[in-house]
Amino acid sequence: MTGRLNILVVGGCGYIGTHMVKALMAAGHHPITLDNLSTGHRDLLPGGEFIAGDIGDTALLDDIFVSQRIDAVMHFAAFIEVGESVSDPLKYYGNNVARTANLLNAMIRHDVKRFIFSSSAAIYGEPDYTPIDEDHPLNPTSPYGETKLWVEKMLAACDNAYGLRAVVLRYFNAAGADESGTIGERHEPESHLIPLVLEVARGKREHIKIFGVDYPTPDGTCIRDYIHVNDLVSAHLAAIDALMEGAGSGVYNLGNSRGVSVREVIDTAARVSGRPIPVVEDRRRPGDPAILVAGSTKIRNDLNWQPRFESLEEIVRTAWKWHASS
Ligand code: UDP
Repeated sequence: MTGRLNILVVGGCGYIGTHMVKALMAAGHHPITLDNLSTGHRDLLPGGEFIAGDIGDTALLDDIFVSQRIDAVMHFAAFIEVGESVSDPLKYYGNNVARTANLLNAMIRHDVKRFIFSSSAAIYGEPDYTPIDEDHPLNPTSPYGETKLWVEKMLAACDNAYGLRAVVLRYFNAAGADESGTIGERHEPESHLIPLVLEVARGKREHIKIFGVDYPTPDGTCIRDYIHVNDLVSAHLAAIDALMEGAGSGVYNLGNSRGVSVREVIDTAARVSGRPIPVVEDRRRPGDPAILVAGSTKIRNDLNWQPRFESLEEIVRTAWKWHASS
């Protein structure tokens, strides 16, 4: 374990950022959230310092890095809608790539050289094999996935050129909520499966559409690897510890290595909530691979990371607690 660290959490008011801030405080660290509130929620930030602003603001970044010693930066401030990235790619390249370059530039200028980056399984595109390990070819099928690939390339070049040490975490499907029920997933508009299904359970939507029932999977629906948000967060804490102890850069998949179909998610949510969840079978959503499951041996071995939430049922139960109270 490392002592009290000053961690700049970019995007700390978002779904994963708020859980990260809570865990950093619980671990005795000092989180400083920088968030432009374009999609984040100030009211959900569990504590620490808050700075309203954008990573495109060079003067603000200089100010932050001059006024306090930052031990490491965690970056959660990306746009994440695959469909929107197709219809408005410059929004994605501008924020996810160009402004991230601006952030990295400021870090290098101020000699801050530890970085944890939220990458995505979207970087792999349509998988050649499953489970997907980190050596799988990178063929993103959307501008969103491309932006993650560009940043990963930038980070490798920055390590080579400036000695920036970056841990890249390729998230599979983040899900669930803190067990306290005080923070959770709140996207506007919502597009992710579990929150949508729970909105149906609450009667806020009439039905859930299943995007494709003719996939080459046992029940015909897509299979994904759902990982609890607090398990994602604990991987970041392990990454920080490793960087503080002098570890080099690394790239890791972050999933449970357990595939679950869309129908299984819906059945689980019906069981957990005790409510009916009407289903409408719809066409496939463009760009959805049939199966995305993480091989996560590398992070288990290198960072000694273990997920606490093994079953989908537990994950959905925490999400339901949040949804039922929010
Ligand atoms: N999905 C669905 N209906 C919805 C939303 C999602 O059938 O209303 C499916 C989607 O096609 C995918 C899975 O649920 O197979 C997970 O989708 P989500 O958008 O939550 O995450 P993604 O895998 O795209 O990151």
